[in-house]
Amino acid sequence: MRRKKPDSKALMDRLAKAYPDAKCALDHRDPFELVVATILSAQCTDARVNLTTPALFARFPDPASLASARQEEAEALIKSTGFFRNKAKNIIAMAQALLDRHDGQLPDNLEQLAALPGVGQKTANVVLANAFDVPALAVDTHIFRVARRLGLSTANTPEKVEADLCKTFPRELWIPLHHQLIFHGRRVCEARKPDCDACPLLDLCPTGLGQIKDPHTGLRLAHTPGQAPVASQPQPPPSEIGPKRIVSLVPSMTELLVQWGLAQRIVGRTRYCISPKWIRATVPSVGGTKDADLTKIRDLAPDLVLLEKDENPKETAEGLTALGIPWRVFEIKTLKDCIGAWRELGTLLGVPDQAKARAKALEGALKGRKKKGPRTLTLIWKGPWMAAGEDTYLGDLVRQSGLTPIGGNGYPTLGEEELDAFVPDIVLLPTEPYRFNARHQGELQKRFPEARVLLVDGQAMTWYLSRTEEGLEQLRAIDLD
Ligand code: SF4
Repeated sequence: MRRKKPDSKALMDRLAKAYPDAKCALDHRDPFELVVATILSAQCTDARVNLTTPALFARFPDPASLASARQEEAEALIKSTGFFRNKAKNIIAMAQALLDRHDGQLPDNLEQLAALPGVGQKTANVVLANAFDVPALAVDTHIFRVARRLGLSTANTPEKVEADLCKTFPRELWIPLHHQLIFHGRRVCEARKPDCDACPLLDLCPTGLGQIKDPHTGLRLAHTPGQAPVASQPQPPPSEIGPKRIVSLVPSMTELLVQWGLAQRIVGRTRYCISPKWIRATVPSVGGTKDADLTKIRDLAPDLVLLEKDENPKETAEGLTALGIPWRVFEIKTLKDCIGAWRELGTLLGVPDQAKARAKALEGALKGRKKKGPRTLTLIWKGPWMAAGEDTYLGDLVRQSGLTPIGGNGYPTLGEEELDAFVPDIVLLPTEPYRFNARHQGELQKRFPEARVLLVDGQAMTWYLSRTEEGLEQLRAIDLD
């Protein structure tokens, strides 16, 4: 099938709406820092580079100091970015060339920039656009892939793809478009698993949902029928309904938003929001669940902050109120609470059908289950021992699986004698938040020889809303005979 070029105007509008916060992800204070960071970013994530450069620039703050650096010292400082020997050689040589040829200043034209050691056309374009505001459209691995999937180019080299893109889009939009396409490639149109179902460009994309072969992999893109709007039935992109700039302070809610195709609306997360993996590199962290940085949240200008009562302290909600930032707190202590939260979030975020389908399926799964099964103690910590009580989400998950939760209420700390006194039939050891492993399992099995001591997937047990069904399924799979 012949591929049709998508409507470039519609594409630009959609990208601008989906990624209003798209910008250079490499931290830098001046053109020199940017060129060094860009050289280091080859075959490395921007997040990793950002962790590396503060120490490097503290030691070598300018071209003069870097030009006289010892190779071994520079290597040690940038080792974690990979290919460190070559990169150290290049950044030192580049700094020396700046002193020799340009009086220690970075040139602001493509020819002279690209002639510096370690600086090819792509790096030069990144520097021109971000340090000097010169329209340029550097094609990296993400843009190369996305442009070809979208039918914007059929070329086989980044240089030719760049030329095609520059012909298609107006010069004044090259810089934002560069960042938006990178964000899109990282967040949605991933190399191995593009999330076409959640893609705001779906109805403009000739390869989405496996309509034709993916030029990146040569395969048809995988798609589960019935889960997504299809190209012939265009729907408003999800970003047009409900809050558009969401900060999630609850790891499992962050994962839920991605599952519902709302990734492009997440503008902030906690450092514990680590799933899916790409979120760490693309969405800024605002601190922990218990100590979120309100200034960072305010600077992200969210129109909604998501909280959970157990997970986040009430001071966070009070601080948000004082700053005039809208927030919504949920309380998840049972599986029924999950059903209510799905419905409410679905309505709030403009995805009611997905939410209702999920809620209905869980309601059906909770009907007619046998209760009062084996007495089950769920331990969540060692040194001191702590259990998940009967009135917690984990307790209800155990109950709804046909087991009888024991362990008191809340998350009690247990002395050795108190632990022994429970005499459980089953002891569950989730792999989170404490990293229980086979050794702990063996120790507890000796301690409770009559009981069955089982290691269980901690995320399936505790990531309510995003993994509720998975947790239920795993506990129901325990053989009770
Ligand atoms: S529809 Fe799929 S292949 Fe096309 S741009 Fe979106 S995620 Fe990529």
